[in-house]
Amino acid sequence: MAGNQQPEVNIGLVGHVDHGKTTLVQALSGSWTDQHSEEMKRGISIRLGYADATFRHCEGVEEPECYTVAEECPDGSESEPLRTVSFVDAPGHETLMATMLSGASLMDGAVLVVSANEPVPQPQTEEHLMALDIIGIDNIVIAQNKVDLVDSQQARDNYEEIQEFVEGTVAEDAPVVPVSAGQEVNMDLLMQAIEEEIPTPEQDPDDDPLMHVARSFDINKPGTTADNLAGGVLGGSLVQGELEVGDEIEIRPGREVEEGGQSEYVPIKTTIRSLQAGGEDVDAATPGGLLGVGTGLDPSLTKGDALAGRLAGPSGSLPPTWDGFTMEVDLLERVVGTDGEEGEVEEISTGEPLMMTVGTATTVGAVTSAREGECEVNLKRPVAAAPGAKIAINRRIGARWRLIGLGTLKE
Ligand code: GDP
Ligand code: MG
Repeated sequence: MAGNQQPEVNIGLVGHVDHGKTTLVQALSGSWTDQHSEEMKRGISIRLGYADATFRHCEGVEEPECYTVAEECPDGSESEPLRTVSFVDAPGHETLMATMLSGASLMDGAVLVVSANEPVPQPQTEEHLMALDIIGIDNIVIAQNKVDLVDSQQARDNYEEIQEFVEGTVAEDAPVVPVSAGQEVNMDLLMQAIEEEIPTPEQDPDDDPLMHVARSFDINKPGTTADNLAGGVLGGSLVQGELEVGDEIEIRPGREVEEGGQSEYVPIKTTIRSLQAGGEDVDAATPGGLLGVGTGLDPSLTKGDALAGRLAGPSGSLPPTWDGFTMEVDLLERVVGTDGEEGEVEEISTGEPLMMTVGTATTVGAVTSAREGECEVNLKRPVAAAPGAKIAINRRIGARWRLIGLGTLKE
């Protein structure tokens, strides 16, 4: 692996299926984000469609050719590492918009991949841009991909279509970089655009560490004896502060306990036994990229993503747990779908079920009271979140949950 620096910025890859997101990540990082579930359970090498790439620079070479992921420059000298970025490859077509949004909550910026050989926009191009818009991710680079498949006139026409499409959106001023991920053409220009448009977010090292748990595992092979059992593993993203091996952490909402027919969530406390960041075992980790946290927890507690959607941090520092909440609601003007069905978004009504994504948590709730611009929901499963947290609101329309608006958690 080149570099082995911990990634310092998370960049989402979004756009319509088959437009080349995974190919682009592969061209820049040399790893294939689509294969993530099975092999990662051996060891705490955890992928959530994350792949790290170290951008490097060749001294004395002009822009954009000076940008590279190769360790060797054209003149044989060694390239200088600039920074390591972590790409979050948004899931494919069957996956719910909410998954994309929960990933988006951990994105510092995004590369919107648009195929040059198809009319603009394709449904998910529009849906994903809308998601970036409502989440407020405005550090965006547009990769006009597959330019190897079109002639220069088609490329220009497509470029115009992209410009028209993003007008008035959060991507209005985003640079459009013609590339061929498949042929690795203009990767240097794309890296330059990413360096210029998607800065590393500023961190305050004194902030309490806060981790969004996106996955959790039991990494033990079946039949491992009790003596040899490795503790439960959490995978996710540290959004602020620093975690160290040996730290005591709390996980909220913790686990469900039943008592007299009543179920309740109690926070879990544990000690960090190991940390993995940027594909390496480390003693301490800072925000950026995907983090693996080995804990002292009984692995049956973490098995099968049982703790996905939780928050982790020092005891007493985590935001409250909500069984229900009131949120301010901003509805979209219309529903954008992948099947061409579009329609106006109707007001939220009392009694209707909603699916809400808060950070990495997805929970279903029933609306107990709906007023204009605000509603109260009762959650099936509680979430931990700070007042002011953004909530992606989904309504069941036809066979799937559709994004209908953005909520803000009220005190
Ligand atoms: P994703 O669904 O957005 O992740 O798209 P993939 O990366 O899986 O790519 C979809 C298909 O397009 C694959 O067959 C790729 O080989 C192909 N592809 C991706 N980038 C390019 C490109 O720049 N040029 C050409 N000709 N094909 C590409
Ligand atoms: Mg893909």
